[in-house]
Amino acid sequence: MKVCLETYGCTLNQADSDMMKGVLISAGHSIVGSARDADVVVLNTCTVKGKTENKIISRIEGLGRKGKRIVVAGCLSINRKRVRNACPGAVLVHPGAVAMAAEAVEDAAEGRVSEYAEPAAGNRKEGLPRIFTKPILRIPIQEGCVGNCHFCQTKLARPGLMSYSLKWIRSWVEEGVAKGAKEMQLTGMDSGAYGLDNGSNLVELLKEVGRIEGDFRVRMGMINPGHAKRMLPGLIDAFRDRRFYKFFHLPVQTGSEKVRGEMNRAHTVADFREVVRGVRGEFPGASIATDIIVGYPTESEEDFQETVELVEKVKPDIVNISKFASRRGTYASRLKEIPTQEVKRRSTLLSQVAKRVAAEKNRGYGGRVLDVLVTEEGKRAGNGKPDGGNLERGTGSWKGRADNYKQVCIMGKAELGQRMKVRVESSNYGSLFGKAI
Ligand code: SF4
Repeated sequence: MKVCLETYGCTLNQADSDMMKGVLISAGHSIVGSARDADVVVLNTCTVKGKTENKIISRIEGLGRKGKRIVVAGCLSINRKRVRNACPGAVLVHPGAVAMAAEAVEDAAEGRVSEYAEPAAGNRKEGLPRIFTKPILRIPIQEGCVGNCHFCQTKLARPGLMSYSLKWIRSWVEEGVAKGAKEMQLTGMDSGAYGLDNGSNLVELLKEVGRIEGDFRVRMGMINPGHAKRMLPGLIDAFRDRRFYKFFHLPVQTGSEKVRGEMNRAHTVADFREVVRGVRGEFPGASIATDIIVGYPTESEEDFQETVELVEKVKPDIVNISKFASRRGTYASRLKEIPTQEVKRRSTLLSQVAKRVAAEKNRGYGGRVLDVLVTEEGKRAGNGKPDGGNLERGTGSWKGRADNYKQVCIMGKAELGQRMKVRVESSNYGSLFGKAI
């Protein structure tokens, strides 16, 4: 059967799609690039934002109207009612049951309406085949979390903490090295909680990965500041391995301790600042990314100003800003929301501040020569050929990552997975631009 896989959301979800592709191909199916050419379409969904969920529901309705057979996997699969309203014949595969992708596709093709919540037997994903696109290999290290944030619906879709064994994660990295992967993306829902359920911990895991021979880079996924603070000396020690990108994704969500408490976040804003100080003390050029929710129902103007000040002071390199959206089944969905216009105003203002801060920092890279791993081909011009190039638009160029995971758009010849020296010529808030030397 020809199957098209459409993936939404985080790196963990993309890693699930890599596994579903592996399972489907092992079962004799083929993966096609567009829904038009597919017998069955698998949508690996995300519900972290209301907007994303609505977009996916319209996609499901659209495919259903065209008579397409559909499998809905990922976090939206737990919302059976909404999915079946959009497409009564949809087959559901919960995030923990990706091992059942082949059975689900066959059911959909036969018109059998079914739902897979857990794999038939044994563990969930260890040992599953996967298809990955070099040079990047996405490696899930854990699922679930130990938090209970009042705005979060993801926790409902991926309940309970489940850490993969060191042995499996090691074998996945070794498999990647053997198959030519140059960047290992260690990912999870809350990587900092790794091992709390199997007697291990994230530092032990990173040191285990550090013992693997090979010329590859490691990108560490999101770590909640509370966990990062708890193990900071060990984390810093593990990150001394030059192969680890000096990139730390630490979601703080708000700059107000009051709102942080009302969100039920398992860390303080002060913890976040302390971790950033600790990291920068050891790795001055480290890149800091954070996530912020604007317009949480209890957020006053003063609270919001504390968030703006936090960004001004801490100067993160990346701020992923979300406008609060009430998510079904969460505590926060019972709270009175702030008017949309006001949430929009705050989001626009914070985005301007975050971009200004990031652009200022990136201007400091002008003239510097960076060691860059080429990980992506830039956009091609309309005729499909590199158009000789507009650096700012990133066309005709290649994209890579510097030692601190900053994105670098490179003019000149390059190859995926290649390491090269690039002199930075210009920048904007999101990228550096330069020529290979
Ligand atoms: S830590 Fe909080 S935001 Fe993150 S997955 Fe768990 S409940 Fe959701």
